[in-house]
Amino acid sequence: MWREMAQHFLLSKAAKTLSLASVFRMSDGEAEATFKAIRWPDTQGQPVCPHCGGLDAYEARRGTLLRFRCSACRKDFSLTSGTLFASRKLPIRGYLAAIAIFCNEVKGKSMLALSRDLCITYKAAFVLAHKLREAMAEEMRGRVVGGDGKVAEVDGAYFGGYVKPANRKENRIDRRLSQNQSGKRKSVVVIRERNGNSVPAVFRSEGAALSFIRSRVAKGTVLNADDASHWNELHSRFEMKRINHEEAYSLDGACTNMAEEYFSRLRRAEIGHHHHIAGDYLLRYAQEASWREDNRRLSNGEQVNRLGGLALRCKPSVDFGGYWQRHIPAA
Ligand SMILES: [Zn+2]
Repeated sequence: MWREMAQHFLLSKAAKTLSLASVFRMSDGEAEATFKAIRWPDTQGQPVCPHCGGLDAYEARRGTLLRFRCSACRKDFSLTSGTLFASRKLPIRGYLAAIAIFCNEVKGKSMLALSRDLCITYKAAFVLAHKLREAMAEEMRGRVVGGDGKVAEVDGAYFGGYVKPANRKENRIDRRLSQNQSGKRKSVVVIRERNGNSVPAVFRSEGAALSFIRSRVAKGTVLNADDASHWNELHSRFEMKRINHEEAYSLDGACTNMAEEYFSRLRRAEIGHHHHIAGDYLLRYAQEASWREDNRRLSNGEQVNRLGGLALRCKPSVDFGGYWQRHIPAA
């Protein structure tokens, strides 16, 4: 239901012009009104009680901090209660600015830039950026792509666990050998529907992705893949088009160019953040690249609005429940 309403708001002029510059020009009241419109699109920005769903809440400010009290259950809530930004530390305008900056950043250094732009610590920026990736991931939870008459591409690539090559040629090792890998190197597999959405996941190897692919691609889809033998098993379920990249990049309509574009975006992120893209964080970076590819035709304002809406519909962070639960890399 919210999707239709959110879509309606996305098409509005306000959404299209929600840029970083416009965020900084807003008064506090305008920033609050914008945040309310993004959080509660179904009610045109009128607060909905996160405790009981009540629609009759009134403002009960604590100092300058905007809070609401529900007339039905008498409980208080804030603009960010029950969302990914719960227990917030930034002013409301800061969150809007963070989302705008994050949507503008195509690659690299976003967390350092974010910490400078918002005058917050690197750690705080790291967590904030990561929460925005978590929100992006929400959009592809349980997603199934393709269907009758639809075409999709599947491909995989290795990321993370960088092993520094030895300087002298005679000391160089064959890094394809498993004993020479750091153990952090994982395969990202992406399924990408042409003129549609994508869904990525992380595996030990491409061959381990078969049941994921079967569950996330609808029957009737024509699936394009390269000639790697582990994809042969997919022929029993899908009409397959195979492309041997040693012969051509596109032949008889068979190609994986859309998947390749996805991987070149993820590779740029790896170059920008190669210390962080391994291990636990790899899936989040893969989901971020997916979201950016899927939404690349939206205006910046629409992207900001969409990501803000996702973040405010997410429950408090799974990955960072308000604590430093994992090692957070130093800047
Ligand atoms: Zn209530």
